[in-house]
Amino acid sequence: MEAINSRDRALQLLQTYFGYTSFRPAQEAPVESLLKNEDVVAIMPTGAGKSICFQIPALCKSGLTVVFSPLISLMKDQVDGLVDQNIPAALINSTLTQTEFNKTMYDVRSGNIKLLYIAPERLGSNFFCNVLRSMPISQVIVDEAHCISQWGHDFRPSYRLIGDWLASLPKRPVVGAFTATATKAVENDIKTLLGLNHANVYVTGFDRPNLSFSVVRTPKRMDYVVDYVRRHSHENGIIYCSTRKDVERVYDNLTRAGIQTGYYHAGLSDEMRKDMQNKYAFDQLQVMVATNAFGMGIDKSNVRYVLHYQMPRNMESYYQEAGRAGRDGAPAECILLYSGQDVRVHKYLIEQGHLEPQREQVELRKLQSMIDYCFCSTCLRKYMLAYFGEIVPWLECSNCSSCNTKGERVNVTKEAKAIFRAIIATEERYGASMISSIVRGERTDRITRAGLDALTVFGYLSDVGDKEIKGLIQQFVASGYLRSSMGKYPVLSVTAGAEEVLAGHKEVEEIRQEVIVPSRKTKKSASISRSEVPRSGSGGLFEHLRQHRKQLASQLGVPPYIIFPDTVLIDLVNIRPKTLGEFGNIKGVGEAKLKKYGLSFLEAISQYKGCLLYTSDAADE
Ligand code: ADP
Repeated sequence: MEAINSRDRALQLLQTYFGYTSFRPAQEAPVESLLKNEDVVAIMPTGAGKSICFQIPALCKSGLTVVFSPLISLMKDQVDGLVDQNIPAALINSTLTQTEFNKTMYDVRSGNIKLLYIAPERLGSNFFCNVLRSMPISQVIVDEAHCISQWGHDFRPSYRLIGDWLASLPKRPVVGAFTATATKAVENDIKTLLGLNHANVYVTGFDRPNLSFSVVRTPKRMDYVVDYVRRHSHENGIIYCSTRKDVERVYDNLTRAGIQTGYYHAGLSDEMRKDMQNKYAFDQLQVMVATNAFGMGIDKSNVRYVLHYQMPRNMESYYQEAGRAGRDGAPAECILLYSGQDVRVHKYLIEQGHLEPQREQVELRKLQSMIDYCFCSTCLRKYMLAYFGEIVPWLECSNCSSCNTKGERVNVTKEAKAIFRAIIATEERYGASMISSIVRGERTDRITRAGLDALTVFGYLSDVGDKEIKGLIQQFVASGYLRSSMGKYPVLSVTAGAEEVLAGHKEVEEIRQEVIVPSRKTKKSASISRSEVPRSGSGGLFEHLRQHRKQLASQLGVPPYIIFPDTVLIDLVNIRPKTLGEFGNIKGVGEAKLKKYGLSFLEAISQYKGCLLYTSDAADE
């Protein structure tokens, strides 16, 4: 009964503070568990709405909710957003002065704060732990919970302090652990290290239908990037590079092309990084070129594309970084630019990392899965979801470069058979270079000394280039016909799939043509769908409202997306509210925001109508 009442209250708070009339299906269960004081481990993809899952229960409960968060900027973003919605939230981290710290603690003790964000490093201080012990903590949330596990990709030793701290509390509060990516091993670590023995585990589908995924294999990456960014000049994007040097190179090229570009990597001073991050958040930069140091701390919801200038070292990093696109649910693009050199660099870095042998094997295996993604000729989304343990019933998503490639499917059974035979004939002792030399008939010293030029398959593919053969081998590994061992000198072996091909039971196909990057559709219609962000240069009401939001944001000193996400602007364009009442009915407009920004946006809309009478570009709308 109580749960039902608290559920109604939760819905009421959701409407009042956030302007949403219902929870998303994936949010229902974690919210309900936390309301019933049952521990939760929730694995939900970026953009699924994790924060609301614990923020609403925090508002329903009588005591304090402590949220552990790994990064200062991430905390600040969340707390700024909450405070803007009149939700009593505060943060404690190393940036506070003693006076600010005392004031926050005073507010917490007086019950004026409902959500307190802290960095786990704080638990290293006995003084601070004692202060926390005296607080009425009703709920503890561990955000980005994968940081607790060394099997994840973002291990932070300070997260290990949380478990002991929880155990030391006089009364154990309900605990919720939230993350966007967790393999089974990471999930188990989260449960064990936080002592969540009876937690309800919720894994939301990882799919992000509004994101399109593409892999582009091009030797001219820089040209591709500059051209792409130019063609998307009214949109925000992120370009990830593997090294600082590449960040600076791409930055230079884009700046020279006249694009408002920022750059970000760990080599910059704190001040400079902060400045870049702010400018990007405030829409003063069109694009940010960065290493993986950039991102976790930024909640910007209107990133319309994420390009990877190089292949990242594992799927976890890729999905997390690419996932920073389209958090508002509107269409966005994720494009990975692949070059064979990326593989060599990653292998080198892993081998130079002085990891324990077991750990090195794990890293190499992860890298191989990433390479396989780049060579996957079937649905990329399906492949990616399968990597995270989600098997989907469909074959094609129609929104990735594999599904959208118009290229001809070429039968490569003859090439496949020759390669498989060469591997078997040499007793699975060699890697791709040697196999390529054999089938292409190269009489190198190594080959003649080993007598490999006597093999029947020697020179069988003499008319095919080395690069093509190696590409095919990568693809056969990706599609499961071949296995590649880990380590410095990977060795190829055949699987049952290859044997079926050799026995004539199966044909092998390859897609051979330039990949066509799926583009977000730009229907010209009277109204814009929420799943469709108006594209560059439409010059319509959307752009007018975007500029208005930008101006307002800079006056208030907050990033534009804190005021309203793009999705609210789209609804404003379609609905064109005339009264505050109509405005308040729009999804995502809570009471506080309506009061603060309602009139100003109504005015902006009416101003635009005024323009319509006089300008001819009104036809655009
Ligand atoms: P995550 O932390 O999982 O990446 P966020 O908490 O940032 O996701 O939420 C992503 C977006 O979804 C935000 O713009 C948020 O306001 C919106 N959102 C969250 N819950 C709901 C809901 N119940 N209905 C509509 N939109 C929602």
